[in-house]
Amino acid sequence: MSALIVAVDGPAGSGKSSVSKAAARQLNFEHLDTGAAYRAVTWHVLGLGIDPEDSLAVIGALKSFDYAIGTDPDNYFVRVGHSEVTDAIRQARVNSAVSFVARVPEIRTHVNAIFRRILESSSAAGIIAEGRDITTVVAPDARVRILLTASEQARASRRAAELPQHSGDQTATALLARDAADAKVSDFMVAAEGVHTVDSTDLSYAQTIDAVVALIREGQK
Ligand code: C5P
Repeated sequence: MSALIVAVDGPAGSGKSSVSKAAARQLNFEHLDTGAAYRAVTWHVLGLGIDPEDSLAVIGALKSFDYAIGTDPDNYFVRVGHSEVTDAIRQARVNSAVSFVARVPEIRTHVNAIFRRILESSSAAGIIAEGRDITTVVAPDARVRILLTASEQARASRRAAELPQHSGDQTATALLARDAADAKVSDFMVAAEGVHTVDSTDLSYAQTIDAVVALIREGQK
């Protein structure tokens, strides 16, 4: 039997990664963080000394891009070749370059094929894939499709709380700039037809997880 697929999209700071991971844990599902693949290609591109705005060179870097990700919510890792890059792909230099890499169609096609392989080969009861275009492009036929949103202010203050070493203003500006660049590629601010919206602006973290789990349980019936 194949896994029940749940697609979750949302902007940076909406909490989609932590909420999807927690929901997966509760349901005994796997969790696929798709943003990690774009981050990992970007880390690889930067390591090769390639300008992330040079699309042709970025496409060339795919030849040597060997990628692995953990989908067990309790054993999350990201690897490129023999390097463990789980933490390195969260660096500010990756944050500011990733949108250039993610806008290249050849990169999207390449990573989408990786995502579909992972979704198809999951042997868990279900798998929650989260990103920007999962409900619309990667898994439009997913059993449950959710758009997780939150106001700009809520997203910026949550992200600032995660990064206390940076100024709140800088964090907010960087986050909104990344959203604006990403929004040119995928529409993750408005729910496509049939996609449930969960607005977490006035919800606690626990309430947001509950809302997502309830939608998944409904889809399991
Ligand atoms: O979700 P996360 O912030 O880790 O995503 C990193 C970047 O990867 C996003 O800013 C976006 O450029 C890209 N991305 C994407 N499509 C996805 C997931 C992420 O374009 N499905």
